[in-house]
Amino acid sequence: MYDIIIVGAGPAGLTAALYARRADKTVLVIEKESFGGQITSSPKVENYPTIKEISGNELAQMMLDQVMEHGAELEMAEVLRIEKSNGAMKVITDYGEFEGKSVILATGSKHRHLGLPREEELTGKGVSYCAVCDGAFFSGAPVAVVGGGNTALQEAVMLSEYCTHVTVVQNLSTMTGEARLVSILEKKPNVTMIFDTLVTELLGEDKLEGVLLKNDKTGETTKLSVDGLFVAIGQVPENKPFENLVPLNSYGYITAGENCLTNTSGIFVAGDCRTKQVRQITTATADGAVAALAACRYLDALEA
Ligand SMILES: Cc1cc2nc3c(=O)[nH]c(=O)nc-3n(C[C@H](O)[C@H](O)[C@H](O)COP(=O)(O)OP(=O)(O)OC[C@H]3O[C@@H](n4cnc5c(N)ncnc54)[C@H](O)[C@@H]3O)c2cc1C
Repeated sequence: MYDIIIVGAGPAGLTAALYARRADKTVLVIEKESFGGQITSSPKVENYPTIKEISGNELAQMMLDQVMEHGAELEMAEVLRIEKSNGAMKVITDYGEFEGKSVILATGSKHRHLGLPREEELTGKGVSYCAVCDGAFFSGAPVAVVGGGNTALQEAVMLSEYCTHVTVVQNLSTMTGEARLVSILEKKPNVTMIFDTLVTELLGEDKLEGVLLKNDKTGETTKLSVDGLFVAIGQVPENKPFENLVPLNSYGYITAGENCLTNTSGIFVAGDCRTKQVRQITTATADGAVAALAACRYLDALEA
């Protein structure tokens, strides 16, 4: 039985593993998709202290290497549910069951979809949720980005370097991301920003050929021909498997404060998957440390 099982290997989960190993606890980190979490899809990180500029992939790899050097065990599997009995936690995955004395949930969040017909069918055939992963496929072609937050704006800046034209489609009257990014985009001759507008239809048979746009104020509908559509409209947490174990708020985030405690003893939470104001690498890593040390105190109290 592991001292601590960590669900999710993003910055929060990996930092929790580092702190727990340094406290000499046995640790298993279970990840279902990508060791490093969301940040692996970021082309450039410029706000992680001491590192002026680094790709998300590189940063994630450095975190992973450090955790492995400290002796954390890793498992590629999806956690389907957790059962608590007699103080122990049975973590049930699609790749077998694991037992832990405590669990840290660090499941992060996922890209929100538009919810349009044929969206799933056209994903990978023009529709994408990650410009850094798929942007290069659209070099020399026109694309659109849906969203007005930092992710959408960062993606638009990156795509404008090699796509013929980038149209940023925002449903509100202003962009919600950093003014600095808006100002960069305003100066780019191959970028158009349109406001109060929704993507209402995906066009094309075997691959995306364009989108229908509807102005929310005038009701006017226009067709935009694009080869790629990058959807960057926010994140949704992935906490459904744990809804019977820990309380979730109405958006599905695990309800917990800065102490990373849940109201289920032995279960801790870290990173983007919990209720918080700021979802960044620094806040995720801070949570990882707080949750791991809380779990260590819990384990030490069990043994006392
Ligand atoms: C494109 C992009 C650019 C960004 N740029 C920046 C930036 O420049 N600076 C910055 O500070 N932040 C940035 N962020 C935000 C930052 O990546 C997140 O705040 C951070 O990754 C959150 O870390 P986390 O560990 O809480 O969650 P995540 O990174 O989301 O990791 C959670 C992990 O848990 C796994 N998981 C979920 N459910 C299960 C399950 N049931 N079983 C097993 N595994 C599971 C997921 O697969 C995932 O790998 C960016 C995000 C994106 C998407």
